[in-house]
Amino acid sequence: MIQSERIKIYNSFSFDENGEYVLYWMQSAQRIKNNHALELSIQLANKYNLPLLVCFIVMEKYPGANRRHYEFMLEGIDDLKMGLNEMGISFTVHVGDVQTLIVDLSHRASLVVFDDSITRQLKQLKDDVGQRIQKQVFTVETNVIVPIETAYPKEAYAAYAIRKALQRQAAYFAVGFEPSKLKNKAKIENIPVSVQLESVFETKLSHLEDLPGIKLIKGGEREALKRLYSYVENELEHYDSFSNHPEKDATSHLSAYIHFGQLSPITVYEEVMKSGKNAAGLIEQLFIRRELAYNFVHYNPDYDLDLIKILPDWANKELDRHRIDERPYEYSLDTLEQGQTHDSYWNAAQKETVLTGFMHGTMRMYWGKKVIEWSKTPEEAFKILLYLNDKYQLDGRDPNGYAGIAWCFGKHDRPFSERAIFGKVRYMNAEGLKRKYRIENYVEKIKTLEDQS
Ligand SMILES: Cc1cc2nc3c(=O)[nH]c(=O)nc-3n(C[C@H](O)[C@H](O)[C@H](O)COP(=O)(O)OP(=O)(O)OC[C@H]3O[C@@H](n4cnc5c(N)ncnc54)[C@H](O)[C@@H]3O)c2cc1C
Repeated sequence: MIQSERIKIYNSFSFDENGEYVLYWMQSAQRIKNNHALELSIQLANKYNLPLLVCFIVMEKYPGANRRHYEFMLEGIDDLKMGLNEMGISFTVHVGDVQTLIVDLSHRASLVVFDDSITRQLKQLKDDVGQRIQKQVFTVETNVIVPIETAYPKEAYAAYAIRKALQRQAAYFAVGFEPSKLKNKAKIENIPVSVQLESVFETKLSHLEDLPGIKLIKGGEREALKRLYSYVENELEHYDSFSNHPEKDATSHLSAYIHFGQLSPITVYEEVMKSGKNAAGLIEQLFIRRELAYNFVHYNPDYDLDLIKILPDWANKELDRHRIDERPYEYSLDTLEQGQTHDSYWNAAQKETVLTGFMHGTMRMYWGKKVIEWSKTPEEAFKILLYLNDKYQLDGRDPNGYAGIAWCFGKHDRPFSERAIFGKVRYMNAEGLKRKYRIENYVEKIKTLEDQS
């Protein structure tokens, strides 16, 4: 089922009767299950008795992305190939210039469907491509449970502002569906032959930086679902008690799958609810916190550009008042990147990301707070955090990352008691980690990983 609130008609062209197929440019929803853009494409193809062509284009360069991200994304292509093939849907994959390829394919289409994007570069790209396509274009918001503008009409001050609105709308929007069956399975002739992905890192993507490390998870929809089902069956009941513990590793590790659209948040939501297990904490993160992050990035175009324009007044004032405070340590980007500070907990967190592409959520908060404490200015800390987060986290370059980093500076939070450097912005220290968790076990775990690498 596709709720009408998810669909926008992009331009004033109407259906082209001479077109040979419906074209779906799959970009941010790299999956079959609970993909409303794919579903709309099938329904429209059925309505006009046309075959459906799904096109996936790998951009040669994407800001902040390196081989780690590309590999994870491309591991999902086989699942798509197989799944779409079974449904009688044509699929073509290319590496290169999106604008040219999609615009070329659109010439023979009756209409075109896009999935939604929220970060600046992708939004801009979709706008540019959309403007060059002389066919009817639909965009479909499929990567959130509740469409952003339906959930809340402006930037939310904090989670409390949108929680009730989201919860109220969950029964209507958090509904999974089986994809419709495509009726016209005719082979589409003369579409460009897909690129050979097996050798692509030696050919078209050979320029990408390779980060050596340990591969903890493999990309793709099948892996995502396997992990989700196994997590819900075997580990979910421990989430509320242990998800904050860095040493326990009790969270789902689904963020990279969700980031690449290989897994829909609706699928996770439904699976968790269906289990009947008490997992209010996970729903709070997956639904409320994640959609708060989407709200932030959608309504605040400065989300990764300008601290002053993203923080509430009280946080700006506090950080500014304490600008002159002496920093106990000041580290260069290089020292931070290599995890060589005096703080073994922070170093362990940084090394976890560098090695595996993942950092435990509690450590992400500590990690961000400490960079603020150890940088000359809040603005410098902001830049460093964005750079490291987007480079190393497999789930980086995501609204969650931008909101998570902004949170370290006071966004979506409230004032606490006064401290040096932070003023009333929430502070975290190593004593807190020691008191609440077996943090030495976490350090030990990362050391073992390091020894293995
Ligand atoms: C400084 C900082 C940077 C962060 N960078 C990123 C990032 O680049 N990408 C990213 O996806 N998340 C980021 N987060 C949010 C959060 O830490 C991760 O989503 C979470 O740790 C991922 O692990 P998991 O999949 O095991 O999460 P689980 O705890 O199992 O949660 C399930 C899902 O809920 C969502 N979620 C969990 N925590 C949050 C949160 N605090 N805010 C919004 N959504 C959440 C994620 O999609 C996650 O996969 C950041 C947080 C901070 C404080």
